[in-house]
Amino acid sequence: MASILADFWNLVFPRTCLGCRERILLEGEQNLCTYCRSRLPQTDHHLFPSANALYDKLAAFVPLRAGMAYLLFTKSGRAQQLLHSIKYRNLPELAEELGSWHGGLLAEVAYQQRLDALVPVPLHEKRLRQRGYNQSHHIALGLGRVLGLPVWQGVVERHLPSSTQTRKSRLQRWQNVEEIFRVVAPETVQGCRLALVDDIITTGATTAACGMALLEAGCAELDCLALATAQ
Ligand SMILES: [Zn+2]
Repeated sequence: MASILADFWNLVFPRTCLGCRERILLEGEQNLCTYCRSRLPQTDHHLFPSANALYDKLAAFVPLRAGMAYLLFTKSGRAQQLLHSIKYRNLPELAEELGSWHGGLLAEVAYQQRLDALVPVPLHEKRLRQRGYNQSHHIALGLGRVLGLPVWQGVVERHLPSSTQTRKSRLQRWQNVEEIFRVVAPETVQGCRLALVDDIITTGATTAACGMALLEAGCAELDCLALATAQ
């Protein structure tokens, strides 16, 4: 019955693919059609968790075990289009769907056995109120559903940087970003193997600062997972 209702609903309000704008027809397709999904700029990071460009970028800031992104971000490319939809078109379910696809790749290499929990990079409160949701939290929910891992939201807090980032040296910017994260409940993370989950990693400094806060609070092993990485 539910499926008949869903079919009827789709007939009256046809959904379109966020990639090609064609109608979504097949069962199981939610936001992207099968063709567009097959053309996503996927990385092979799940096969090389600590030997890829993202890992090298993050390892310059923070000691981590693995750094893996699902998609490669290029200007005006498909990953950028999807991230824009997640951020500005109120589509937390797209974040979750993409997270679950990344989870599918990671499950192929039994990645879940190496972890205790997923920790989304938090937004600061003001931004969270504006957007209504933290996209990284929804990416983590998709990953966690497929990998069978808990998502620990709220163990890290994010504050506004004390001053603006412009006209600062690389070191000053790092010091500035390093102090914006605080682990709320250090006893929760102590001795745990955690993967920090972010939406897009560009310089890596912010993600690394959040990871550093977890390590300083006693996290035993740190990984970073991102929906996309810019090269
Ligand atoms: Zn499509």
